[in-house]
Amino acid sequence: MDLIVSHWHCPRCDVGGRDREPEPSCWNCGGTAVVTSRPRVDGDDSPALHS
Ligand SMILES: [Zn+2]
Repeated sequence: MDLIVSHWHCPRCDVGGRDREPEPSCWNCGGTAVVTSRPRVDGDDSPALHS
């Protein structure tokens, strides 16, 4: 099961994707992609949500 999936977008190539890496790379240019969202399945790394 995937615990964390980063949704990313590369502004240079205007492509996006999903990756389990916290800092994904663009599959097209190999550069650092911009993570647009990172939905958590298990929420074990979200101190802001713990009250
Ligand atoms: Zn790219």
